[in-house]
Amino acid sequence: MIEARQEIKHHFKNWCNKNLPLLEEIESQHTISPNHWLKMGEDGLLGCMIHERYGGSGLSLANFTDMLSEISYHSPSLALSILAHSQLCADLIQTWGSEDQKQNYLPKLALGQLIGSTGISEDNAGSDALSMQTHLTDDYLLCGHKMWITNGPIANISIIYAKHRDEMSALIVDLTPQMKGPAFEKFGMKSSPTGRLTFNRHAVDPSSILPMAGHRILKTALDKERIALSAIPIGIMRRALNEMISHCSIRKQFGKPLAQKQLIGEKIATVHTHLSSSEALMEVTLNQPSISKLDAATLYLHASQCGMQAAELAMDSFGAMGYMVENKSTQLFQDVKLFQTGGGSIEIRKLLISHILTAHYCY
Ligand SMILES: Cc1cc2nc3c(=O)[nH]c(=O)nc-3n(C[C@H](O)[C@H](O)[C@H](O)COP(=O)(O)OP(=O)(O)OC[C@H]3O[C@@H](n4cnc5c(N)ncnc54)[C@H](O)[C@@H]3O)c2cc1C
Repeated sequence: MIEARQEIKHHFKNWCNKNLPLLEEIESQHTISPNHWLKMGEDGLLGCMIHERYGGSGLSLANFTDMLSEISYHSPSLALSILAHSQLCADLIQTWGSEDQKQNYLPKLALGQLIGSTGISEDNAGSDALSMQTHLTDDYLLCGHKMWITNGPIANISIIYAKHRDEMSALIVDLTPQMKGPAFEKFGMKSSPTGRLTFNRHAVDPSSILPMAGHRILKTALDKERIALSAIPIGIMRRALNEMISHCSIRKQFGKPLAQKQLIGEKIATVHTHLSSSEALMEVTLNQPSISKLDAATLYLHASQCGMQAAELAMDSFGAMGYMVENKSTQLFQDVKLFQTGGGSIEIRKLLISHILTAHYCY
């Protein structure tokens, strides 16, 4: 079992090494083109967790996190967009969709012929997602908007959460150009397009609603999302550590490589320890018999905080070069900052953890 996982992980690592020009193009051009999506679909990256009968490879969440961490070593933005496509969209359809919905969408999502996204957040409903205003009228007209949607500007479909008859529903919306806003200029994750989706009394076929209640889908999807998201800061930390080690071994000050200065050695040891503890926590979380809300929030909190500190230490070890935008450590810092906010902010994760731990005594 462990060997099979290592073999698959190795396969994704090899894919990245073989496709370095593609990954570098995505990072330098700040875009993932339709051809990139098709190539990734053809090579099996997009159907990782999609069952074989719908054209995927039927791999596990553990395999998916391994893939994301390998990709984010080279391109955190690409890993983020793949996560939004594969997990937030395809995996939701696979887990909660009707047979027709699965047959209609999963094979095309696996091949990259369709690009997926999901819309929960709105201008005035971020951390407090349940206060969303987007709604379906009684005659099935979708009204409202979604904000900061990963892949929104390029996606063909989106799983949209909307209030419907005092409940919440999740529905598959085939996006039209009129619904999609342009990509925002962001601090980091520059190749992963983020945008607004607007629904102006858009007529919805009731068969596009996922059969399970929206609040139930949201509750479980967020836990799985937090585990998958954690793989990206882990990949970022691995890259930050390697960047630091190679730079500090070559760059000399006061007649010796920086790596031989004890205070620089302390930074390297800290990043290594942050990476190792996050990887270990990932394994603990993945090895639970079922996904634990507490473990998912704890892992994501830890990996994102460690990732932030690791990227900052890497930047510091580059001195002035670490302040130049072309420096990889600077880009890692910009990218990893997202994980303080996205997928439920640091504060919300802390609230969730303390709430679970004290619920038995206080509520
Ligand atoms: C690059 C990017 C990609 C994204 N992709 C998606 C996507 O694909 N789909 C999607 O639906 N959304 C997406 N989001 C939105 C993201 O999920 C929200 O930004 C996040 O949930 C936080 O909401 P907010 O930005 O409105 O912050 P707010 O909720 O306004 O919070 C602002 C600050 O207040 C703090 N805060 C809020 N409530 C409390 C509290 N009760 N106690 C203490 N502190 C609190 C927060 O921690 C934060 O520091 C994305 C965001 C970004 C930046």
